[in-house]
Amino acid sequence: MEETKTKDIILSVKDLSTSFFLREGEVKAVDGVSFSVRKGECLALVGESGSGKTVTALSMLRLVVWPPGKIKSGEVILDGVSVFDLPMKNMKDVRGKGMAMILQEPMSSLNPSQTIGQQIQEAVEINQGLKGEEAKKKAIEMLGIVRIPSPEKRYYNYPHELSGGMKQRIMIAIALSCRPKVLIADEPTCSLDVTIQAQILRLMQQLRKEIDTTILFITSDLGIVAEMADRVAIMYAGQLIEICDVFTLFENSAHPYTKGIMGSITAMKEGGRLNIISGDPPDLMALPSGCKFHPRCEYCQEICKTEEPGYTDLSGTGDHWVRCHFPLNKK
Ligand code: SF4
Repeated sequence: MEETKTKDIILSVKDLSTSFFLREGEVKAVDGVSFSVRKGECLALVGESGSGKTVTALSMLRLVVWPPGKIKSGEVILDGVSVFDLPMKNMKDVRGKGMAMILQEPMSSLNPSQTIGQQIQEAVEINQGLKGEEAKKKAIEMLGIVRIPSPEKRYYNYPHELSGGMKQRIMIAIALSCRPKVLIADEPTCSLDVTIQAQILRLMQQLRKEIDTTILFITSDLGIVAEMADRVAIMYAGQLIEICDVFTLFENSAHPYTKGIMGSITAMKEGGRLNIISGDPPDLMALPSGCKFHPRCEYCQEICKTEEPGYTDLSGTGDHWVRCHFPLNKK
């Protein structure tokens, strides 16, 4: 799969494969994933739980721990730098200033024994080179940017004194304090209730405009995709199966799996029955031969059971790729 619009690409992931080697066998968590993120855009990496989204992000940051995890192959190019070729000691410059990650669980990511102000200040000192009062001023400014009321007072609060939504705002402030080239948001709202979720998403949209950040947004929620993303990459069983812009996703998706999940949403919106894709998600330790989706696919033909499909460029311009022998909507 070759990206044709290469001019504005800030991050490119090529043929990334990561496995976990357990006593029971190899779990192929990420299997030959390639995609690019353009400067200033929000690309959503979408898939159900266990499809390989988070492991893809952790691999990009070289945070997969051996044993049992291992990056088997691939390349990650961030702003012209090959991340996997860097000595491990230089990864501290990539994590933060290069790619900063907002995790799902803010409570487990914040240090309970330090005030939130100190934690933001530390990120400012490391990544922006500011010190003392200047760094503190910047930390308070960051609290204001993520819409924390009375930032001067809140600077002295400990994480346990804040609500879940506030804690996630602090995580966003810490990530933005690194001034990352790419902000990776890994289901940042999944532990929050619906109202707070909407507030955090609105905040991220506003910040995206104000700070001109490039975002890789990991989610399994297509409602969030519609609100946040410019383009979408769909994952299934550790593989990337379709990539296109958001309009195409909702109007003209071509992979039977994508079509299936889109169908569930449409059915629910129209008050109909939930259109669940038949069959179970695949066992990553015993993946089917051929197309990984074939046991669940209503369009499956003989070739699908034996031959893994390659990518087809449906747009002819490199904007819409699908991994299927018989893409739907093919002109
Ligand atoms: Fe279905 Fe065959 Fe396409 Fe796989 S390759 S999604 S089985 S039609």
